[in-house]
Amino acid sequence: MERLSGELKILSKEEKEGIDEARVSRDEEGDGKRKLYIESYGCQMNFADSEIVASILKKEGFVTTSDKNQAELILLNTCSIRDNAEQKVRQRLRILNATKKGKSNVKIGVLGCMAERLKTQLLEEEKMVDMVVGPDAYRDLPNLINEVETGQKAVNVFLSREETYADITPVKLDTNGVTAFISIMRGCDNMCSFCVVPYTRGRERSREPQTIINEAKELFNKGYKEVTLLGQNVDSYKWKNSQGEIEMTFAQLLASVAEIDPNLRVRFSTSHPKDITDEVLYTIKKYENICSYIHLPAQSGSSRILELMNRTYTREWYINKIDRIREILGDDCGISHDMITGFCTETEEDHKETLSLMDYVRYDYGYTFYYSERPGTPAAKKLEDDVDLETKKRRLDEVIQKQRQHSLERNRRSLNKVVKVLVEGFSKRSEDFLQGRSDQNKVVIFPKENYRKGDYVLVRIDECNAATLKGIAVEKELV
Ligand code: SF4
Repeated sequence: MERLSGELKILSKEEKEGIDEARVSRDEEGDGKRKLYIESYGCQMNFADSEIVASILKKEGFVTTSDKNQAELILLNTCSIRDNAEQKVRQRLRILNATKKGKSNVKIGVLGCMAERLKTQLLEEEKMVDMVVGPDAYRDLPNLINEVETGQKAVNVFLSREETYADITPVKLDTNGVTAFISIMRGCDNMCSFCVVPYTRGRERSREPQTIINEAKELFNKGYKEVTLLGQNVDSYKWKNSQGEIEMTFAQLLASVAEIDPNLRVRFSTSHPKDITDEVLYTIKKYENICSYIHLPAQSGSSRILELMNRTYTREWYINKIDRIREILGDDCGISHDMITGFCTETEEDHKETLSLMDYVRYDYGYTFYYSERPGTPAAKKLEDDVDLETKKRRLDEVIQKQRQHSLERNRRSLNKVVKVLVEGFSKRSEDFLQGRSDQNKVVIFPKENYRKGDYVLVRIDECNAATLKGIAVEKELV
């Protein structure tokens, strides 16, 4: 799972406001209860984990608050995908330290990938931190809290080969009540040379499928209309029985969730070019409620760089996968990417291959980074970070400009067409307009009339920019 934080997507102002901001826990009823404040950074997996944490601590008598000054337990669920993600957390810890000053009962804990990467070192470097807990150790939180309440520091960064928190029902934190994320697996076995995830989230393990289907059913019964199945590499999802035989593949899991109800939209993220199968593509084609949108990180258009990144596929293999998607799901299927510019030894020629790959695919949007060396990764150990920052940024800008052009071109394909939109709420600019997303995961804004959150609405698109489609509702899809 490359994307989901610190990236570049061609964003409207509405969207820009959301990115990079930490997601903060919301206020829950519960006078007299112990108050928990959670800030979550990074990818959707981290947001989903914060909901698991809130659920585990609910059993210990905690309710969440959006006001850090009310909290006796402050938790930061962190990202480590790039250096600036960690710097942001260190800045935040300085501010939260002021909140803690003079209040001996207030404890600060750091969770997630930065906690896993730095372990006890974080306690030495950031004195205000009382507790460091890795992504597989959240069940141990009640014990760790007991430890810090006796004035000690507490650490648990054990990485598990089994833990999937399958039996824990997440407490929804910042939710629009319409869309929700369900994690279907944890960890990653791909060892992309630039990535910290295998070291901070451990080996790949799939979650028992019935617990995923039950969670989706429960959400649908609570009024949610869309679930996104989450994993670092969902295409390698496999549930095996005790004899080690595969009982469920990702395509079969997708179909099982789609069969819950035709009015439950199903999305998934993130795919991996080496593992995505025709079976998955035909399953998307078979079920109208599985969205025709695939996030397929490329990272580079140069086979030489892909090899140094240990992505285990070539430019040609990637293009074949794109061709299969277009053959089976048609040109309207939404496709987005991740690209890294300025990876070790990247030449102008390699960079041009990335730009020409984008010309070939014509992505709907993408998330782009310049290479940020991460300590402990194979790239940091074996390769020199030899592309200067100015060149990294110039190449990043060229990819941005090209994507902006392609996003506008792809959005123009929707002009004068009717798209089915699931309303997620008011547009961020005005409560006279509603906002939702199309099947291809494009943001659509239209005048509210009598429509409301959770409605499926058919909207005729009459205007667009590189990030957003705008239109008029023509009919409410009766469901
Ligand atoms: S190792 Fe590769 S596939 Fe796994 S999370 Fe990192 S970038 Fe994604």
